[in-house]
Amino acid sequence: MSPPYDLVCFDLDGTLVQGTVFIWQTLHDFFGTDGDRRRKAKDDFHAGRISYRQWFEHDLELLGEAGATRDLMLAAIAGVRPTPGGHQTLAVLREAGLGLAIISGSIDLVLHRHYGQVSFEEVLINHLSFDHRGALVGGTPTDFDVDRKGAGLLEIARRQQVDPKRVAFVGDNYNDVSAARAAGLAIAFNPRSEELVETADVVVEGDDLRGILPHLLDE
Ligand SMILES: [Mg+2]
Repeated sequence: MSPPYDLVCFDLDGTLVQGTVFIWQTLHDFFGTDGDRRRKAKDDFHAGRISYRQWFEHDLELLGEAGATRDLMLAAIAGVRPTPGGHQTLAVLREAGLGLAIISGSIDLVLHRHYGQVSFEEVLINHLSFDHRGALVGGTPTDFDVDRKGAGLLEIARRQQVDPKRVAFVGDNYNDVSAARAAGLAIAFNPRSEELVETADVVVEGDDLRGILPHLLDE
């Protein structure tokens, strides 16, 4: 019997990794950037006064001013770990023949650090650039965070030639709601957002990501 889904899209922060709610906040806390400027940019984005790219570039500027380098950023995220059962969950899904994808507002550094050996069919995430000395020099923002995660899921489905109804999504927070709406099955894993709980088809609580597997595979 074949599984009811062809592809599973995962959020990263709080879903495939733990020890952070949003990696950006973890980085700003570590580097001690100006909280007022940080909050203003966040508010400006959510109020539609600046674009996601402007928010991203503003945050990189703050981190750059604070001396962020690749090594220091790795130190900043040292407390971030794969969610227990994360790697096993991906392996079981792969073994069952499902595709794997990332739709995340986190940064590629976190994904490479903890899931660098996993070959995802599609990865939608923010990319950072460092120079040869490791200094943070820029980056490329994702087009698919917050209200655009759902569009990202549909784009992945189109590219992979999969019916969106056969795409599952797993996430934990408010920025996952649009993806949860677009997916054929939405799983809220240890959700931190009431809106996501209300949107999701299934809520899975617990310390181990393998708790999602019964919902994705035929018994
Ligand atoms: Mg998350």
